[in-house]
Amino acid sequence: MRIKFSIVILLVFLLGCKTKNEKANDIPHVVVTTGMLYDAVINIAGDKITAEAIMGPGVDPHLYKATQGDLAKFNKADLIVYNGILLEGKMSDILKKLGRQKPVVAAAESVPKEMLKSAIGYEDAFDPHIWFDVKRWKFAVKAISQSLIKLDSTNSEFYKQNTKTYLMRLDSLDQYVKNSISEIPESQRILVTAHDAFVYFGDAYNIRVEALQGISTVADFGLKDIAEIIDLIIENKIKAIFVETSVSDKSINAVVTGCKEKGHDVKIGGYLYSDAMGEFGTEEGTYIGMFRKNVETIVNALK
Ligand code: ZN
Repeated sequence: MRIKFSIVILLVFLLGCKTKNEKANDIPHVVVTTGMLYDAVINIAGDKITAEAIMGPGVDPHLYKATQGDLAKFNKADLIVYNGILLEGKMSDILKKLGRQKPVVAAAESVPKEMLKSAIGYEDAFDPHIWFDVKRWKFAVKAISQSLIKLDSTNSEFYKQNTKTYLMRLDSLDQYVKNSISEIPESQRILVTAHDAFVYFGDAYNIRVEALQGISTVADFGLKDIAEIIDLIIENKIKAIFVETSVSDKSINAVVTGCKEKGHDVKIGGYLYSDAMGEFGTEEGTYIGMFRKNVETIVNALK
């Protein structure tokens, strides 16, 4: 009898320990692909979750291939958030497969189809760079919020409140961008970059956008593209063009040289964050900070 009783005590003790251990690991772990998504997740979820991003500053998502370490992170995740619309071109298959085992959310795919622009040069594909229009990005933020609420319903009120606050901050950002871009004289409102990451930006904030490369950095650009851009710059007396932090500056430098040879002095207006943000822990390592920095760079160089 005494032995039986001891066994019961032991069992209770062991079960008790197990529950305790499970509790310690109970915080959901969210793995995302880009910095922009990471920033949205932590603004909504704060310390109720742990989160990590696969791609850091300066990394080009069009070309990025998942490493063994990334796969381990994906496997460990309770929720995976990625941009989608083929931004993470080389990871799409892996992410789709993982979607059969756990919640995997393509945040950008929540933007209504009629608000997406088709990707020039790609059949049946859309432009994935939706984060450079705050209005479109808000759909992604809402989708992330919903996936967090579904994952961790006990904290749903906390997530809802944070989402509301964050969306209001995004509205002020949207207004700031509109006001700032309107400071550039209309004839100078042309943004020339290496790859076409700013189509939605141009659409939302009334600035013409021209790029050497298409919407993906996978495709190459030719001498013809360079010659066309040079003509456009000279014709419109454009003062500055821009390099990107996640794309090689070779092509843009070739344009500057080409303009010089034809007697037009065009400057590099500065670095723009396109497909990756700044260092974590800095202002440019947040979505709002990165966006404001880009706008400052563009306005200062073109106005
Ligand atoms: Zn891109």
